[in-house]
Amino acid sequence: MEELQIEKIENWGFGFTRPLHIAGPCSAESEEQIIEVATGLKGSNVQLFRAGIWKPRTRPGSFEGIGKKGLLWLKNAKEILNVPTTVEVANAKHVEEALETGIDILWIGARTTVNPFSVQEICDALKGTDIPVMVKNPINPDLQLWLGAIERLNQVGINRIAAIHRGFSNRYITDYRNAPEWSLPLRLKEMIPEISIICDPSHICGVRKSIPDISQKALNFGLDGLMIETHHNPDEAWSDAKQQLTPENYKEMINNLVIRKSIDATPELKEDLAKLREKVDQMDRTLVDILAERFSYILSIGEYKRKNNLSVFQSDRWKEVTQSRINMGVEKGLSEEFMKEMMMAIHEESIKKQELMLEK
Ligand code: PEP
Ligand code: MN
Repeated sequence: MEELQIEKIENWGFGFTRPLHIAGPCSAESEEQIIEVATGLKGSNVQLFRAGIWKPRTRPGSFEGIGKKGLLWLKNAKEILNVPTTVEVANAKHVEEALETGIDILWIGARTTVNPFSVQEICDALKGTDIPVMVKNPINPDLQLWLGAIERLNQVGINRIAAIHRGFSNRYITDYRNAPEWSLPLRLKEMIPEISIICDPSHICGVRKSIPDISQKALNFGLDGLMIETHHNPDEAWSDAKQQLTPENYKEMINNLVIRKSIDATPELKEDLAKLREKVDQMDRTLVDILAERFSYILSIGEYKRKNNLSVFQSDRWKEVTQSRINMGVEKGLSEEFMKEMMMAIHEESIKKQELMLEK
């Protein structure tokens, strides 16, 4: 991977602090609506105001966004709340119009991140500017596309980049509109430790009810902020009516969140944690020793099979082994799913080892 130059949200020059709170309607609908929502958000700790001006709709026929004139309405929100504003852009024209009207931060939507042509078009339009850009994950759980969009932005000189985790679409009916698949944002953070990741519980949940739970989970996982759709009259919203919160409900929810401290900011606790981690390190060494010993027996069995011209795989034996180990694990409080996966991994490796041996 190319070396990326990414600035954390705290260094974007807007005075942002973690967790970054972003709120505002799914779509800008009218000048009055923007004023209502912004006024409602006064006294909350919102640091950035959002609104969709061009709305990517999966199927035609629903509200596709108010367009350019809505950009000017955002100036009201900026004045009322004294915070910067952000809109979604999906092509070069959107970028030009947003820059012209003084929008402070842009975001790339989930249906755009999937398309490298569109992302590149946006990047080309951004050349020579240094506006911060937030990149939503693609609708499908493909980390490479998410990463690719971030790399393309970096290549045209944009350093103030954040990622937005809005969940991943799924063909099955689940509890979520877009399944959170937490391991994906966490892997992105592993790959780019300096990137700030904002969670978008609204588009993960699709309904109001579960937004507090997903918001708390995001903070528990150490994500860097929350983007939450808010509307003064959610049921009448022109888009995403089921998932928007009133500014009142938003404030109440944010106040009830437990903010988790970063370990780096708490040196006293870091020491305690180091002690506990020592135990884990020790256990891992034991685990590796045991696995190595187990595989050495597998090799002896392989050798025996070779000498006696026996085939590698004996399905009856394997079924029995897996089931009995799963039972052992479950008895000790390990999940059946984990035990199954672990036994499969061990089995695959055993077969590989014995296969190699018989080839000799
Ligand atoms: C939005 O933020 O309103 C939106 C359209 O989100 P997404 O791109 O995540 O679907
Ligand atoms: Mn929306």
